[in-house]
Amino acid sequence: MLIVMKPDATQADIDRVVEVIETLGFRGHAMPGENRTAIGITGNRGAVDPTHFENLPGVADAIRVTKPYKLVSNDLKPERSAIKVGNAFIGDGSIAMIAGPCAVENPDQVFAAAEAVAKSGARFFRGGAFKPRTSPYAFQGLGEEGLKILAEVRERFGLNIVTEAMDERGIDLVDEYGDCIQIGARNMQNFSLLKYAGRAKKPVLLKRGLSATLDEFLLAAEYVMSEGNYNVILCERGIRTFADHARNTLDLSIVPALNRISHLPVIVDPSHGTGHNYMVTPLARAGIAVGADGLIIEIHPCPEKALCDGAQALTFGQYERLYEDVRRFQKIAAAELALTE
Ligand code: PEP
Ligand code: MN
Repeated sequence: MLIVMKPDATQADIDRVVEVIETLGFRGHAMPGENRTAIGITGNRGAVDPTHFENLPGVADAIRVTKPYKLVSNDLKPERSAIKVGNAFIGDGSIAMIAGPCAVENPDQVFAAAEAVAKSGARFFRGGAFKPRTSPYAFQGLGEEGLKILAEVRERFGLNIVTEAMDERGIDLVDEYGDCIQIGARNMQNFSLLKYAGRAKKPVLLKRGLSATLDEFLLAAEYVMSEGNYNVILCERGIRTFADHARNTLDLSIVPALNRISHLPVIVDPSHGTGHNYMVTPLARAGIAVGADGLIIEIHPCPEKALCDGAQALTFGQYERLYEDVRRFQKIAAAELALTE
């Protein structure tokens, strides 16, 4: 059930509807939009009787939701969501660039990358302190030490920090040191972790699972939002297919598919999506062309020496050229928009 409020509904009207929802034993999620607020109801097993709400002040309509997801859907919020990450936005119409190394290896490596990212004009820095590695013998990340280095990046370079958490303790730590909690592809269906992230303060960057369908992906986002954290950014990072010319198959068709259904920002990760340095720039351009709100890109001062994912890391020079392309694209898109307005 979705309660659509009248454009002139007051905060008191909205609070009253949420109160009635809570009295029924459910949870109300008020989503303010440009023209009206809608209130999603979760926690109900069957249909909710609309007559509970019909005569409340400020209520325009009570609509049954037939889709499996509610809060991610643009039925609830027709306008696109811009998510604040630190002191900048993802999904505000600009193309967000999140760049940095796969893993935080040491201060010199991280600060060199941060300098390149800050110089390019990007606002977001990535780097894993907790690394989900296929082999238990591979470098697992520096843990809290790594987060401290990332916190220093924010201080020194003014970049907003996006970094992965793999468990509940990691979420608490990223909530403390970082600006955005990345939930990795392997944890996309770790439902207890998703719920925990839903109670965190910081926004969540949710990566698509290795074999997740669109519905599964959106329902994972729904898990986070149903706990009250509405600040979710979706990330397409490639899926497993029979194709073996790339590490994964970057499924760019999901970008317009998600944009059609959901108000959440969608970004593309051509680094994990391809696994090969030479494919990253072409697929990054393609991601922007299909309507992504941003990119997440791995870079390294010396890719051949990287402790993790060196084959897909861009050099600083390659990264700068890619970001130049992105800026050019943005200018063309803005000029075309001005022509059609
Ligand atoms: C990463 O971004 O460092 C990462 C591990 O990505 P994914 O979860 O998409 O594999
Ligand atoms: Mn990586």
